[in-house]
Amino acid sequence: MAKAPVLTPRADDFPRWYQDLINKAELADNGPVRGTMVIRPYGYGLWERMQAEMDTRIKETGTQNAYFPLLIPQSYFVKEADHVEGFAPELAVVTHGGGKELEEPAVVRPTSEMIINDYFAKWVQSYRDLPLLINQWANVVRWELRPRLFLRTTEFLWQEGHTAHATYEDARDFAAHIHRKVYEDFMVNVLAMDVVPGRKTVKERFAGAINTLTLEGMMGDGKALQLATSHELGQNFAKAFNTQYLSKEGKQELVWQTSWGSTTRMIGALVMTHGDDNGLRVPPRLAQIQVVVLAIKGDDAVLAKVRELGDRLKAAGIRVQVDDRTDVPFGRRAVDWELKGVPVRIEIGPRDLENGTAMVARRIPGGKEPVGIESLVELLPGILEDDQALLLKQSRERRESRTAEVSTVEEAVEAAASGWARIPWAALGASGEARLAEQSVTVRCLVAEDGSVPDDEDAPGNVAIVARAY
Ligand code: AMP
Repeated sequence: MAKAPVLTPRADDFPRWYQDLINKAELADNGPVRGTMVIRPYGYGLWERMQAEMDTRIKETGTQNAYFPLLIPQSYFVKEADHVEGFAPELAVVTHGGGKELEEPAVVRPTSEMIINDYFAKWVQSYRDLPLLINQWANVVRWELRPRLFLRTTEFLWQEGHTAHATYEDARDFAAHIHRKVYEDFMVNVLAMDVVPGRKTVKERFAGAINTLTLEGMMGDGKALQLATSHELGQNFAKAFNTQYLSKEGKQELVWQTSWGSTTRMIGALVMTHGDDNGLRVPPRLAQIQVVVLAIKGDDAVLAKVRELGDRLKAAGIRVQVDDRTDVPFGRRAVDWELKGVPVRIEIGPRDLENGTAMVARRIPGGKEPVGIESLVELLPGILEDDQALLLKQSRERRESRTAEVSTVEEAVEAAASGWARIPWAALGASGEARLAEQSVTVRCLVAEDGSVPDDEDAPGNVAIVARAY
């Protein structure tokens, strides 16, 4: 009799497979309030690695971390009309505190433009104070109607950057720098995800922005996921908050601003991009555990060997965990590490010790073979880099093979049933975009003919990337 699969196969039911994987790989659980999420230690470990990699890149831009309050006076939510209208349906509002009705209700932040700009207006006096570059790592709450673990939760963890600049050009360039040099670099080189950088149409823009830059990834079922966004806010918030600076020429000028965010959604993207029917596959550069060394049996020589090997790999700079829980059946542990997607499993039992070898199982290309124990420290860094590159290649191949060039709305809808479509923006336009929306298909972003990010929505040659999205 064939063994029952651990997860619902992707081809049978992709959403079910996703739920199964999140549960069995111990990434997260549903919280008691609808749409909330408990992030379990293995899932949180992924987030901590993402934070570390992103934080380094963010700081390299000269941005500093700070922290602003969770609660924002409700009266602030009248200041920037588009922003307020965009966020109104998603707000959670605190009306009672300490057993009494509050004089002024407080909004639980859905994003922090409203509070950060209040302080920017105080902190910015002269051109010497600019650019002002602030990032915050925090949780936010948006009352989501169709929640889904990691992808769209009511409370999520993120970083939000907020900056103020002296000129339009400086703000525009900074938003673009975050888009490509922070977000895209991280996603391609750490997450091994082949993302498409582009610009949102007016319809899909962030509420209050003059331009939204996005990174879109193709998931295992051909749908799109927006992974992060970087916004040019123009002077919309500067006007609302009267954020002015004294220029070199001695004139009062409004600042130009950006904001940008990336969230725990990236964990869901990781699952849907690299996961297979046996579980997650974590890119080695991201993995908090790159290599697990398993003792097959609890005999003293085996235990001593796995611990010694663990120490040597650690000293060589590899993120390693020793699994010496020999009271748990070996098969169960192997399946569990497979589900969690640890890139390399090194298995050592009494017979391996006699031969001076270990079984090396590679999660990313698959397969298992004996390797001399003494050569492991030298071989592993190369194996991990090969596996990192393979994941990126597979993700790129998926996007390329499942993207169709089309010229009509009908063809675009058809292509979106199993992948993405590219259609000239001039042939689509806002009216075509509205017709797509009736079929739950959206313009994910606009790209220029040469693949660069267009400066102008209506630049000739712009191509719309069209898909169903999470
Ligand atoms: P925004 O501030 O709306 O530009 O959001 C920044 C990023 O957060 C988006 O690009 C999404 O990738 C992500 N995001 C938006 N809503 C959610 C949510 N409910 N749960 C997780 N991530 C989200």
